[in-house]
Amino acid sequence: MTEHLPLKQIAAARTLDGARVAAEIKEEVREGVSEFVRLYDAPPALAVVRVGDDAASLVYVRNKIRTSEELGFRSEHHALPASTTEAELLASISELNRRDDVDGILVQLPLPHGIDDKKIIESIDPAKDVDGFHPLNVGRLVAGQADAAPCTPAGIIKLLKRSNIEMRGRHACVVGRSNIVGRPMAQLFLQHDATVTICHSRTIDLASVTRHADILVVAIGRAAFIQGEHIKAGAVVIDVGMNQLTDSNIIDELFDDAEEVARRHASFAKRGYILIGDVHPAQAAKKAAWLTPVPGGVGLLTVAMLMRNTLHAANRRRAS
Ligand code: NDP
Repeated sequence: MTEHLPLKQIAAARTLDGARVAAEIKEEVREGVSEFVRLYDAPPALAVVRVGDDAASLVYVRNKIRTSEELGFRSEHHALPASTTEAELLASISELNRRDDVDGILVQLPLPHGIDDKKIIESIDPAKDVDGFHPLNVGRLVAGQADAAPCTPAGIIKLLKRSNIEMRGRHACVVGRSNIVGRPMAQLFLQHDATVTICHSRTIDLASVTRHADILVVAIGRAAFIQGEHIKAGAVVIDVGMNQLTDSNIIDELFDDAEEVARRHASFAKRGYILIGDVHPAQAAKKAAWLTPVPGGVGLLTVAMLMRNTLHAANRRRAS
């Protein structure tokens, strides 16, 4: 049986290795896909739908397609023009729902103005909803009966478990209440017997709440917003945020380690920006026992869990 480490004794290693856990999950999925092909003579298939020219969406979609192909899935990239109407998008999804050779459907968000995200998500067959955003799947999650939880929070749970970090009885605080991260994260913590607090933009005196958290998950989309004063000494801090920092003057203030500062400046010179989480890295490193890096932490787990959800959806469809 796995021995869980009490939080106070885990100060030595500071980085929670999202890359290692993501690689493990992908390896398990690769084996699952091989077994699927052996049983059914065809690979499980993921259809990714993207509307318009959002640059970040294109990067995310390419990454998902590339990973799915590396693991042996068949994938389809449906790139629809920005002029696509809601009715046209609904018709495309209806066709993917109908097709027996498509196991998972993912519609990349955000969608262009004029298309109602909610209506689109509700139109996806819940059995093919690999993001876990359909209201039926959200309801199952809340009831503790989910087949597939949203990828980012599900990946965070995997990371904590595989890093032997105990959730039972701990105070888990989630900052952010989006349907994609914050809310499902809180539900999953509840299922793992944590005592859960959810904070958001209307929370009064945020630091007075977050600094009681043994496990602090931050998903707000504000660069380096969470500072030392928000963090309990010895806490586990999971930084979900992915923000583009376009002012290189701030880099020296964000990192203590000279090598990291040099690496970030080099990255900035190449791209014109660097990726920063919602947590101030230098300040958090001084207070937390464990911390996820950005990049290289939660983002990698999200894609790995998408692959896992797709394989599970394919297996469930064949079993039903
Ligand atoms: P949303 O914009 O949908 O939600 C942000 C949440 O943060 C809201 O609930 C908002 O509160 C809350 N919030 C905003 N400002 C504050 C504040 N000052 N104090 C407390 N709460 C605040 O964001 P997402 O959940 O979609 O994403 C959050 C971040 O995570 C982004 O940086 C995004 O890029 C990143 N992300 C990363 C992923 C990954 O794989 N690594 C996956 C998904 C997201 P209110 O509800 O009151 O407005």
